[in-house]
Amino acid sequence: MTSITFDDLGLIEPLRRAVAAEGYTTPTPIQANSIPSLLLGRDLLGLAQTGTGKTAAFALPTLQRLQQNPHPRVPRSPRALILTPTRELAVQVNESFATYGKQMQFRRAVIFGGVPQGPQATMLGRGVDIVVATPGRLLDLMGQRLITLDRVEIFVLDEADRMLDMGFIHDVKKIAAVLPRRRQSLFFSATMPPIVADLANGLLTDPHRVEVNPTSSTVERIEQRVLFVEKEDKDALLEELLADGTIERALIFTRTKHRANRVVERLMKSKINADAIHGNKSQGARQRALNNFAAGKSRVLVATDIAARGIDIDGITHVINFELPNEPESYVHRIGRTARAGADGIAISFCDREERFLLKAIERVIKTEVVLDDSHSFHSEAVANISVKGPGPKMNFRRGGGGGGDRNRGGRPPFKGNAPSRERNDGPGRPAGHAPVHRDGAGQPRREQRNRAGQSRRAI
Ligand code: AMP
Repeated sequence: MTSITFDDLGLIEPLRRAVAAEGYTTPTPIQANSIPSLLLGRDLLGLAQTGTGKTAAFALPTLQRLQQNPHPRVPRSPRALILTPTRELAVQVNESFATYGKQMQFRRAVIFGGVPQGPQATMLGRGVDIVVATPGRLLDLMGQRLITLDRVEIFVLDEADRMLDMGFIHDVKKIAAVLPRRRQSLFFSATMPPIVADLANGLLTDPHRVEVNPTSSTVERIEQRVLFVEKEDKDALLEELLADGTIERALIFTRTKHRANRVVERLMKSKINADAIHGNKSQGARQRALNNFAAGKSRVLVATDIAARGIDIDGITHVINFELPNEPESYVHRIGRTARAGADGIAISFCDREERFLLKAIERVIKTEVVLDDSHSFHSEAVANISVKGPGPKMNFRRGGGGGGDRNRGGRPPFKGNAPSRERNDGPGRPAGHAPVHRDGAGQPRREQRNRAGQSRRAI
């Protein structure tokens, strides 16, 4: 947060009231840095990810400029276009426009695929000022002349790097090619690989550049832990973690849709309410899952990276990486789902022997070592001992045992408290039958790993 107030930014009264009604007292850094120049009509290059307040950073000035420069509404011809990579993000951005613009008279349409196009076409035909769209369906509607972009005054490209990941860059270029030359363009991306930078160069004219560093703004507020575990123990480890009631609302990430489904099945069998969202689910099913999760009806939402992009649900207490992401940047996006604007959160990552190199890549990106937590039944010293070659932070993990004891019991929140020393901490308070595999100096296991019931973990 900054010392600048919303009153300093030059926003008009209806927007100031809307922001106050949302309970925002101070602009986030990206809002403080970008809103004044956007109100003057400048282009913007924003290096920022979700969770930084970037939606308000573009929605507030867009609404203000449309309001201060009134034009009659023309059917099928919006004045502002916001492109997002996913349907979920489109819905959320549209809701943000509704929230911030509730004292204004603008009409909006949200356009995405996977649902019948009829209602969207009808809305466009009645005339809307603001369209929030994903690229594929927008191109479809453009091809049928159900929308034209020749009156677009403000163009926002949100999450440009994710557009690239999802193979939409070509579609984005096609859409941008038909926009009027005279327009204001805003370009947001969490990362700037060369293809994305080229795209930005082609779309923007003399942009104001704002960079919000996710590692300092978001990641540092999140308590991060890594749990070394064998792949086949991950399900049991997850159940053990979720046996702790302080994990109120957990977003769990897997790499694949198949794995997301399997995790949900397994949790449901253990009577833990869970839902999955991923690309194979219908739009209706995804929205239902999100609503259930947001309303607290399901405690756990299991998601793949693409499906989770842009999820903005308050009160996610824990992000659990059941599998580490292939791209290290995704780790930052994932854990940013907890710790929404100002809140703190906990991110727990399972890491098996095949994922050690992924952990290393993540640590290189976040420029910190993730704290090791071995205070669970399935800690694998064998995985911990794997050495990963190459540059990066020294693989000398701090122990997160927190002065010993079983942190998942006795009403204490899991993994909260100070990350203690790097010394091995076997946890003197660990109950019998809760012993992790530890190796002696020769690298031999000292005792067999057993689960809570005292069975060998292989028997689980
Ligand atoms: P975004 O980065 O746009 O996804 O925003 C992340 C979250 O921050 C959303 O839940 C917003 O409602 C919230 N938010 C945006 N701006 C502010 C602000 N100035 N103060 C507090 N919360 C905010």
